[in-house]
This record gives sequence, structure tokens and C-alpha cells, in this order.
Amino acid sequence: MNYKKVLVTGGSGFLGRRLQKFRPDWIYVSSRQYDLTSLAQAELMLLEYSPDAVIHLAARVGGVKDNVENQGEFLYKNVYMNTNVLEACRRVGIKRVLSSLSTCAFPDVVEKYPFTEKNLFDGKPAESNFSYGYSKRLLQVQSLSYRNQYNLNYSTFCPSNLYGPEDHFGKESSHFVAALVTKLFNAQEQQSIEMWGTGLPLRQQLFVDDLCEIIPILLEKHNTDIPIIVAPDENLSIKKMCLTASKSINKNVNFIFNNKMDGQFRKDGSNEELKKIIGNYNFTKFDEGFKKTFYFYENIKE
Ligand code: NAP
Repeated sequence: MNYKKVLVTGGSGFLGRRLQKFRPDWIYVSSRQYDLTSLAQAELMLLEYSPDAVIHLAARVGGVKDNVENQGEFLYKNVYMNTNVLEACRRVGIKRVLSSLSTCAFPDVVEKYPFTEKNLFDGKPAESNFSYGYSKRLLQVQSLSYRNQYNLNYSTFCPSNLYGPEDHFGKESSHFVAALVTKLFNAQEQQSIEMWGTGLPLRQQLFVDDLCEIIPILLEKHNTDIPIIVAPDENLSIKKMCLTASKSINKNVNFIFNNKMDGQFRKDGSNEELKKIIGNYNFTKFDEGFKKTFYFYENIKE
């Protein structure tokens, strides 16, 4: 292991909380300890812990509605957090920072799917995550600028939609799979469940535990300016996911799509660059990941 003392920002979030189960030896910080929109707080955090590597996950994250209604806040907070964390790391002499972007930062539409890391700046992000997408692109620009000018190993990765245990269940801003978990949990046999949109859009749902296994490998091995896409091979329609999910927990329900607000049609990314770093990886299939997520939720509800 190259890095002995690793600090993770965003440690109290969905991904951060799950990562703690895989790497309890790392240090996890939240906004309650340090508000990273302040450069002074970011520097204080690093001086207090003296890590030799930082994994930067902290971000203002949310669903479509939250993103659209709070664009200014998403831009301001994310740009400041990212700028401060990387600059504070540089100032105190930290040579390794691994930061999370998102496949939401990619253009709304590209000519050829799955898109690759080369497409990141090819067109505007989708309207539904316009300012979030641009703030993540800027994090990529800052990382590669610091690599070039200061010879630091600041690199990035782009996960696709995450789901799994520790997700934000039962909130208005829940991700699609978390919302599906609660809907199925509350549904009676044979009940009809209303779903937003047409059910046709395609998504690569990444099981959070897969990312928790991949992050430590990227920390050790990812030393390029490529914003590595971390996404499973499966690219399923929303409708297919609903059917797979209900089947995986043996619950017989009817899904009714209300044809309102579909969001981006597809945003599947290629994991070829990832494979060059980590080799072949068996991503968790959606039916298996959903079942684990559902039983996690069932347990915390009991
Ligand atoms: P999350 O659950 O919303 O957690 C966000 C984290 O950021 C929390 O720990 C939060 O701390 C921290 N944070 C927010 N504002 C902060 C501030 N001003 N100062 C310091 N910390 C602050 O998000 P997540 O789903 O775990 O996402 C983690 C990372 O993965 C993000 O960079 C996100 O862009 C990326 N990502 C997520 C997904 C997904 O589907 N979830 C997909 C692709 C990429 P508090 O708890 O104290 O507020």
C-alpha cells in the first residue's frame, strides 16, 4: 500500500458511510466537522489529520428536482468545495488526491454510445443537472491543471448512478432505486404502483459495494488525467429494472408509467479504461444488488 493515512471527505454521505465498512482504517469527515466551502476550514482539516492521500467525495448532490430548483446553490457549493479541497491539499503538500466526478457531467447527447472519457467536454450536460455537471467538469480541469503545473497525482473517476445499502431512502430527493425499494416495501401483492416517465430511459445502475471495492484500487493505481468511468456492463431500461426488482423479491405488482418527466434518455459510459487499471471485474447484477438493498432496508425498518 502506497498510502497509510487516507482522509475521505463526504464521509457521512451515502457512498462515504458504505466505504467505512470496507475501509474502517481510513479517516472520514463530514460538513459538521469542516465546511469545505471555506478554504480556511479545508486547510484546518488537513493540518489536523496530516493525511498522505485524500479521497474527495464531498459534494452537494441531489435528484432531478433538487438539481433543477437549486442550480445556483449546486454550482456555488460544488465549485467552492472542489476548488478549496484541491488547493488546500496542494498548499499543505499532499501529493495524492482522488476525486469523484459523475457520469452526469457528460454531454446530454453524444454521437456514439457507450460514451468514453474522451467525450466529457463534447457538449452541454443535460438540463436536469446542468450546474452540477459543469462543477464536476471543473473538478476535472483543476485536477489535470494541478498535475501539469505542480506534478501532483490528482486524478478523478466518474461513477454512474449509484444504489445500495445506506442510500437515502424515503426522501423526496431519493434516487430511483431507493424510491423503488420503498415503493415495493410498502406495496401489497397485486397492487398497482405509479412510476414517473415512460419507463424507456436506460441507466447503468452501479451497486455501491462494487465502487467501494474499486476506489481503493484506483487510489493505488490510477495516475493519469483520464476521468475513469466506473459503470457496470448492464444498461437496463427503467421498466426492465422495475420488473427485475419485483421478481428478485418475489413481489407481484403492476407498474403503471405516468409518462411525465422522463429525464435524459441514456447516459451509458464505457468501462474499457477502468478495465485497463483493475482488470476484469464482475459487477453485481441488478437483480442481486436490488435484493441486497431491499433486505438492508427491510432490516432497518424492523
Ligand atoms: P451524499 O449522500 O449527498 O453525501 C454528500 C457528502 O458531502 C456528505 O458527507 C456531506 O456531509 C458532504 N458535504 C456536503 N456539503 C458539504 C460541505 N459544505 N462541506 C463538507 N462536506 C460537505 O452524496 P453521495 O451520494 O454519497 O455522493 C458522494 C460522491 O459521489 C459525490 O461526489 C457525488 O457527486 C458522487 N456520485 C454520486 C452518485 C450517486 O448516485 N449517489 C453517482 C455518481 C457520483 P454532511 O452529511 O455533513 O452534510
